[in-house]
Amino acid sequence: MVFKKNNKALPINNVLDVQQKLFGFENFNHGKAKKRNSKTRSRTKETQSKFDVGDYKDPQLRISDEYTNKYYIDEDGIVGSLNPICPKCNSRKVTKWDIYSKNVISEEYCGEILIRRYYCKRCKKTFITNLNDYFDSHSNISNSLKEKSWQIKELDWTSLRNIAKFYNIFYGINISHETVRKTLIVVEGNEIDFKLPKLSGYYGYDAQWIKINKKWRFRHALYDIVQRMPIAELFAEEESNEDVYYLINKYTEPKNRTAIVTDTKPGYDNVMHKLKFKRHQYCVFHFKLNLNKLIKDEINAKKRKLKQKLENTYPDMAKSLIDDQIKEELKPLKNEIRYALQLIYYIFKENSFEKANSYIQLIKANMIHFPVFIKEYIQKTFLPYYKSYLYYLEKPYKNKLDDTNNKTEGYFRATMPKGQKRKFRTFKGIINQIYHRGNGFIKNQKEKQKKQKPKRSMQKFI
Ligand SMILES: [Zn+2]
Repeated sequence: MVFKKNNKALPINNVLDVQQKLFGFENFNHGKAKKRNSKTRSRTKETQSKFDVGDYKDPQLRISDEYTNKYYIDEDGIVGSLNPICPKCNSRKVTKWDIYSKNVISEEYCGEILIRRYYCKRCKKTFITNLNDYFDSHSNISNSLKEKSWQIKELDWTSLRNIAKFYNIFYGINISHETVRKTLIVVEGNEIDFKLPKLSGYYGYDAQWIKINKKWRFRHALYDIVQRMPIAELFAEEESNEDVYYLINKYTEPKNRTAIVTDTKPGYDNVMHKLKFKRHQYCVFHFKLNLNKLIKDEINAKKRKLKQKLENTYPDMAKSLIDDQIKEELKPLKNEIRYALQLIYYIFKENSFEKANSYIQLIKANMIHFPVFIKEYIQKTFLPYYKSYLYYLEKPYKNKLDDTNNKTEGYFRATMPKGQKRKFRTFKGIINQIYHRGNGFIKNQKEKQKKQKPKRSMQKFI
C-alpha cells in the first residue's frame, strides 16, 4: 500500500530494528507517541494537523494506486483515511486526533509509518485509520507477504527456517522463523472451514487420533467426494458422535445431504439418520479389513491350540514337524475360509445394485458351508446392513458415491503423514499446518479438474 517515492530499488529501512519489534508494535514508540499526544491535545482544532512529528524522518511515502480512493498521505507523511468512519458507532462526525506509529514490513516498504488517529464526536472514542486491507490489526507484516508463507506451506513441508530464508532471498527481508510461525497462524480455534463455495451432496467422513506432546486430539474431517476436496475439520479432546453430528450439521445444508461414506463404527448410522442423509454407505474396505482380521485371529488361536496339544502329546517331537502337522490340520479350515471369502467378496464385484442384492440370497443359501465363526460374523454384522454396503451401486448414486472411504483417508494421509507429526509442538501449529496443506490440496484439485475434460458428475462444479 505504501510505496516510497521515486525509488527504483526496494526500500528496506532498519530491517533489523523492525525484526525485533514485530508483533510488539502496540507498545512500540510509546514514549514518543505520548509526547505527541500531549502536544496534540494542547493544540486547537485548526492547527491540529500541523503538530510536531518529533524525530520521525519522513521516508517520502506515497499510497499505491489501488488504494488512493481510501487513504492519503498528508504533508507530514501521515497516513490517513479519506473517509473516516467511527468503527464503534459508524458516525462520520469525526475529527483528527493524534498519530500512531507502526513499524511495517511489506514487499514495497519496511520501516516506520505514522497513522492518523481520529476522535468520534458522537461516542467520544478515538480510533486509528483502518489499514486492514493491508495489515491485520495485530500484525506488522503485510497480508500479501504473510500469504507467501501460506503458499509455501501449501506446497510442501518446508521448515519455518527455510521460509524465513525465502523472504530474504526474494525480498531481502529478514524475519525470524518465530515470526514465520506466527504468520502461519490463521486458524485460532479447533475448527477449520475450507469455505468451499458449493458442495456436491456426496461426502466422506473420517476421523483419526493425533498425538502431540503426549496429548491427544481427535481429528474429524468432512470431505466432498465428488469434488475431491476437504470441507471442514474439527479437533476435539475426546471421541464423540455428538461432534460428528455437529461438524456435518454445521457444514452441510439439510437439502444438500444426498449420501455419505463412513466406516462402520457404532453410532455413525444414528448420526447420519438424524442428519437425514438419503444414503449412508459403509466403507467396503473396512468390512473386508475387519473380516480379514477376524480370520487371522481365528487361525492364530487355532494354531496355538494345536501346538499346545501336539507338544503335550509328543514332548520329543521336532519343532519343524510340529509346524508341518499344524499346517496339515489347518488345511480344511483354510479351504472353508477361502470358499466363504470368494462368495462374500463376489458381491462387491457385481456392478448392478439388483444383481448384488440377489447375490445376497446365494450367500444366505450357502452359509452352511462357511466356518462357524464367519457365518456368525456375517449373520450379525453384515446381513442386517448389507444394503448399506451396496448403495454405491444404486441409481442415482452410482458413480458419485464410493464403495470405500479411500478418498477421505487419502486426504488424511496427504495432510498429516506419520513422519511429519513429530515436527509439531502444539495443536495450534498442527491445525494450521493442516489448514495450509488442505488449501494446497484444494488448489491442486482445481488445477487437475481444469485440465481434465469435465465428467458428467463434475460439470456443475466447474
Ligand atoms: Zn463513534
